[in-house]
Amino acid sequence: MNIINGKKIQEEKLEFFSKQIQEINEKLKLAVIQVGNNESSNIYINNKRKLCDKVGILFEHIKYDLVEEKELITKIEELNNDRTVTGILVQLPLPKEIDEKKVIDSINPQKDVDGLTTSNIGKLFSGDKGIVPCTALGILNILKSLNINLEGANIVIVGRSRLVGLPLVGLLLRQNATVTVCHSKTKDLKEKTKQADILIVATGKKDLIAVDFVKENAVVIDVGINRVEGKIYGDCDFEALKDKCKAITPVPGGVGPLTVTMLINNIIEAYYLQKNN
Ligand code: NAD
Repeated sequence: MNIINGKKIQEEKLEFFSKQIQEINEKLKLAVIQVGNNESSNIYINNKRKLCDKVGILFEHIKYDLVEEKELITKIEELNNDRTVTGILVQLPLPKEIDEKKVIDSINPQKDVDGLTTSNIGKLFSGDKGIVPCTALGILNILKSLNINLEGANIVIVGRSRLVGLPLVGLLLRQNATVTVCHSKTKDLKEKTKQADILIVATGKKDLIAVDFVKENAVVIDVGINRVEGKIYGDCDFEALKDKCKAITPVPGGVGPLTVTMLINNIIEAYYLQKNN
């Protein structure tokens, strides 16, 4: 079967994480900060809460309709100093009046379960131990579940965001893959993507990757989420590609389940980083 079942990989991972959590003789807690009432954010936070409930992690939802940047940072500092809080996550996007990077960087890197602080991104590229962004980690787990040899593989990533593309570069270089990164200013995208043994697409542009952008028997990981008239699509032409690829993630049901699952991994990781500090 060449359609990757993200839900199945999720179940296996969750079973493993539940055992790890049982071995920890303390209650873990995730604090999620939300500003505003973005509809997608509400869905993502709800999914995170459900998963935390499932594995026995406490969940605190701090929600502001409106807040000043200074007050937000003061709240984060309070959570940084609260020993009952294992992980802190600021749900993005924030309203545009707030400096997202400044807010994220006020999180203690050892509690930064999204792995988005400058400190954690730096650690990823310098080979130090830190917390890695969930989607990148989820994609690595998908590739590992396929038993693909990543060493020397030609991996093309389309998208260079701090959330997805950029951390993937660091993570896949660590696996000794040959990594090419494409973005909105890349010339002749098709020529680049056609070289890929593994193509990872994270742009939020529906149908960006047509069937002739992909070589026969490549593995395609479609990260994109595009909502059109109540339906969710990825960035790739799934219907045309599914018969051409060695393996492909569907949207929904591919990368998404792994992203939220890796949050649990990162909360456990955060616990041990703080414990061994
Ligand atoms: P972003 O907007 O921050 O970054 C998009 C990237 O795509 C940029 O680097 C840009 O240069 C590149 N890009 C845009 N148009 C392009 C084009 N025509 N050709 C080549 N590159 C192009 O977005 P993001 O936060 O990285 O998210 C990307 C997509 O992945 C979104 O649809 C988002 O919803 C989705 N996403 C999914 C998950 C998941 O768990 N499945 C997690 C995070 C993000």
